[in-house]
Amino acid sequence: MEIFLATGNEDKRREIQDLFPGLTFLLPRDRGLPWDVKETGTSFFENALLKAAALSAGLGPGRPVLADDSGLCVDLLAGGPGVESARFGSVPGAKPLSAEDRNALLLQTLEQRERESPETGRGARFVCALVLFLSPYRIYSVQEAVEGEILKAPRGSGGFGYDPLFFLPSLGKTMAELSREEKNRRSHRGLAGAKMNLLLRSLG
Ligand code: IMP
Repeated sequence: MEIFLATGNEDKRREIQDLFPGLTFLLPRDRGLPWDVKETGTSFFENALLKAAALSAGLGPGRPVLADDSGLCVDLLAGGPGVESARFGSVPGAKPLSAEDRNALLLQTLEQRERESPETGRGARFVCALVLFLSPYRIYSVQEAVEGEILKAPRGSGGFGYDPLFFLPSLGKTMAELSREEKNRRSHRGLAGAKMNLLLRSLG
């Protein structure tokens, strides 16, 4: 079965494809559709829903769509960058920062915040909202999170985005030091994907 994935992000497609082995995921670009939906929601769920609805409207009826909206919520930033994770430090209208530059900026920002508020600690969580949009009348959603801490320097080369900074104390590794399979088992996306798989199975 083919499902359209409401993203332009190849890293997300790779991870989601691993999480749903029986399904084939297509990106808007695979059907020549442009993808520049503005993420104007104030929650991961709202953004996942608006991405899923936009792609479904572009494809027409009878095409199931899955959307992922995810990000990093850091205690020292009062839950930020949150829904702005992809745009953290970027100037609107200009080319977004690379993941390395964004991570360097995050470390620098946290260093300063930690001096102002040392009691807060470096706790953080990755959050993932998945929305399965079958039609405007049949919509299913799951949101999951994984707790961790932000290190003072990056570690590891796997995964993508903020993974090298996100430390999982129970494993003693960053998300970027996990194998693909381990990340799929432990990550916010992996946890949400497992629940969405149950839902898909219940829908037949
Ligand atoms: P969006 O869901 O397209 O708004 O983008 C989410 C952003 O959050 C990504 O560009 C990454 O910077 C970050 N992010 C989401 N999931 C992960 C992950 O699994 N690892 C690292 N960074 C992530």
